[in-house]
Amino acid sequence: MEIVNDRYTVQGLDLLDVVKEFGDPLYVYDAAKIGQQIEYMKAAFPGMKLKIKYACKSLTNISILKLVRAKGAELDTVSIQEVRLGLKAGYKPKEILFTPNCVSFHEIKEAVKLGVMINIDNISILEQFGHEYHDAVPVCIRLNPHIMAGGNKKISTGHVDSKFGISIFQLRHLHRVIQTNNIKVVGLHMHSGSDILDAEVFLRGAEVLFDAALDFPDLQFIDFGSGFKVAYREGDVTTDLKDLGMKLSKAFKEFCREYGRKLEIWFEPGKYIVSEAGYFLVRTNVIKTTPATVFVGVESGLNHLVRPMMYDSYHDMVNISNINGTKRIYTIVGYICETDTFGLDRKLSEVHEGDIIAIKNAGAYGFMMSSNYNSRFRPAEVLIINGNARLIRKRETMDDIFRNQVEIDI
Ligand SMILES: *Cc1c(COP(=O)(O)O)cnc(C)c1O
Repeated sequence: MEIVNDRYTVQGLDLLDVVKEFGDPLYVYDAAKIGQQIEYMKAAFPGMKLKIKYACKSLTNISILKLVRAKGAELDTVSIQEVRLGLKAGYKPKEILFTPNCVSFHEIKEAVKLGVMINIDNISILEQFGHEYHDAVPVCIRLNPHIMAGGNKKISTGHVDSKFGISIFQLRHLHRVIQTNNIKVVGLHMHSGSDILDAEVFLRGAEVLFDAALDFPDLQFIDFGSGFKVAYREGDVTTDLKDLGMKLSKAFKEFCREYGRKLEIWFEPGKYIVSEAGYFLVRTNVIKTTPATVFVGVESGLNHLVRPMMYDSYHDMVNISNINGTKRIYTIVGYICETDTFGLDRKLSEVHEGDIIAIKNAGAYGFMMSSNYNSRFRPAEVLIINGNARLIRKRETMDDIFRNQVEIDI
């Protein structure tokens, strides 16, 4: 989003015009930004056999999936439904990694049938897998190196209490299961959470993985998951991708020499690819002054963007209807009958009823975590691509609320 002639624009389009055309609330994504993030990642690992597996749970709109593929990335999926979405979007089965946790073995068998790479994250499932397929279906194994990433447990998956991955302390058991069932392990994986702030933490996890990898002779790739941090507000510490790329590439090359073969290096960024590309545009319904606070009540709520309430995430926002207005302090809240605060004590250009507020970093885990709570409609989604605003998901209607409900005679 940039200001041109006192208007907030994306690729030259005035966002207020986009709202006029498609209505509100509205999720808007900037295709150019998504492409740029993928390019940044590629540029950080020159000379490596790099595969970017976009973690599509962050934003699975089929048009976004097609865009990401056109930009040269592949897919990381966490449910059989995401696998099917990926296939529908044109990804080849071998471009899709399936990284579920705590799903039924039945679902894994379905994924095997579809021909995608399976990433197994517990020994019990691996035993069943080995019993069923032996070495006929190569697998990836998700290890937990127990590296704490950042301080927020809700988004760290490497610590000892985590439900994710097979503990690095279970390696002996793991090898027993692999040998007994003649399982072919072609990949090792770690995903330590969304809060990795510096290359050193990442490298510590990587070293643990390299150590373990020497005992797996059939590897084709090592997948370092995600953890790339983007800025949610000015001054946020973000992952220095260039620094990480340099340090990890060096360590990886050394490992490959020791291993005896050049392996592929994989990542699974979600947020990094789409977070900053997304804006959630909401209309101000009411300005409500209480003895303590001036509330901006908007035509949206935790039903559309739950991250602020669920993770206490900070989403920057601006009043795009009044760019040069006097700055005032507001608390921005939703219309849901819960405390659904989007932002506390935010400085916005003076807000009038009817003004459009743009909530930033809304690309990842925004629309995807939306619901019909309070029987509200989910918003529409628009992709701005090649200078055009294109509808990529229709706004819901009452039909969507009634769908699948069975009205019985009472
Ligand atoms: C969610 C997830 C990711 C992506 O995490 P981001 O923080 O969005 O980059 C990557 N890999 C796995 C296995 C995940 O579950």
